[in-house]
Amino acid sequence: MVRKTIQQWLVLETVQRLCHPSAEEIYRVITHKYPSISRGTVYRNLHNMSESGALKQVSIPGGADRFDITTQPHYHAVCKYCGCVQDAMLPYQEQIQDVVLTCDGFIVEKHDIIFWGVCKECAQKEHVGKKTSPATGG
Ligand SMILES: [Zn+2]
Ligand SMILES: [Zn+2]
Repeated sequence: MVRKTIQQWLVLETVQRLCHPSAEEIYRVITHKYPSISRGTVYRNLHNMSESGALKQVSIPGGADRFDITTQPHYHAVCKYCGCVQDAMLPYQEQIQDVVLTCDGFIVEKHDIIFWGVCKECAQKEHVGKKTSPATGG
């Protein structure tokens, strides 16, 4: 029987709302509203739910692991400036694993692709920062 505790519902709801948050972000948001919930409880629930498949743990090179409410295989785009993680709109390429299979007997079980770039918000900030506005007055 799969029965979720209140803490598990809280964690799930927070992951959904924040879109790929890290464990620390989830903890901070939850403890803001429910100060009695400890960091250990949040981390343990995240771990258990990742193990059971209720959540997907996403490893980001050079950063903290993120948690994802979408458990189906999919790809991510990461902003090199603010580190925000978004779902990449690309169908899962199951067939590329078959190509790798032909290489030296290596058995591929899964794959991950991360697209690195600049998110919309940072792009706008960058744009604003670079724009050389002509000096007016004076
Ligand atoms: Zn960004
Ligand atoms: Zn995702």
